Amino acid sequence: RLFNEVQDLKGNIRVYCRIRPLLPGQSGKQSIIEHIGDDGQLVVTNPSKQGKDGHRMFKFNKVYGPAASQEMVYSDIQPFIRSVLDGYNVCIFAYGQTGSGKTYTMSGPGAATEESWGVNYRALNDLFNLSESRSRAIVYEIWVQMVEIYNEQVRDLLSRISSISHASGLAVPDASMHPVRASSDVMELMDIGLKNRAVGATALNERSSRSHSIVTVHVRGTDVKTGSASHGNLHLVDLAGSERVDRSEVTGDRLKEAQHINKSLSALGDVIFALSQKSPHVPYRNSKLTQVLQSSLGGQAKTLMFVQLNPEVVSYLESMSTLKFAERVS
Ligand code: ADP
Ligand code: MG
Repeated sequence: RLFNEVQDLKGNIRVYCRIRPLLPGQSGKQSIIEHIGDDGQLVVTNPSKQGKDGHRMFKFNKVYGPAASQEMVYSDIQPFIRSVLDGYNVCIFAYGQTGSGKTYTMSGPGAATEESWGVNYRALNDLFNLSESRSRAIVYEIWVQMVEIYNEQVRDLLSRISSISHASGLAVPDASMHPVRASSDVMELMDIGLKNRAVGATALNERSSRSHSIVTVHVRGTDVKTGSASHGNLHLVDLAGSERVDRSEVTGDRLKEAQHINKSLSALGDVIFALSQKSPHVPYRNSKLTQVLQSSLGGQAKTLMFVQLNPEVVSYLESMSTLKFAERVS
């Protein structure tokens, strides 16, 4: 059944938009992005244009309005996640400007309760529980890696805890691999990764919005009778903020960061675009991000992009630029 659900997907690339709610204290504000119908459509209102010309419609595979729960979002992507046990490679991204809800979707809010858990926790728990409950004919092993890419450099976020070094050829080079043997291991690893991500930061939010964080889950299923093995991997990616930086206003480190982010996000856009066009040449080598994710982009791999939107008036231009990026890759 799972196999069919995944096979039924038309292409290998899907784009889901998620509009975050106005935050507490913003209730007086106007939302300029409306989710309409169940058909993956949304309408953006240009705050400085009156009448019909001031609206623009976009269509994607799915759109989640501000009331969509974490559980609802996860239930839609569950078939992708579960297909990793069958040997598929899957890559899930969150793209959008800082403050648009990328981390909320992937990890959940700061102090997450089970209900507010993001995709990362739900996916790992699901894989772990499913691997335990499936038939005894196949034994599954699960490992996790967690890295951050900052200024085109990869940093291991789990290096300070014990790990195994041997692993399949699917690993992010040089990053430690950690076996998951219980559901509690999942929580522990995620917490350590999030803490380590903050340690390197001068100002916590700043740094996390300028680096890409990647959780990689490796699954090996071994057939007990024949000894034959299958591999699947899952990449869960919280991308750096996509906002354009005004070159006239930043210099030095900040400009360098901005240039690295621009370069890697456009390299990602180019790779996904090439894949969506079924182009024979896919430019993986143009950034660390696309190099690290290469095994999960293209071929039989399934790619899913969460395009995150902040519906406030002040974000109009950034939202349009996010939507144009999304339109190009969908
Ligand atoms: P980003 O990672 O893109 O910078 P965050 O995930 O940190 O953005 O979200 C910015 C703020 O909005 C946070 O306070 C977060 O808890 C809140 N938020 C984002 N998405 C939602 C949502 N779907 N429901 C409720 N709050 C949200
Ligand atoms: Mg974030």
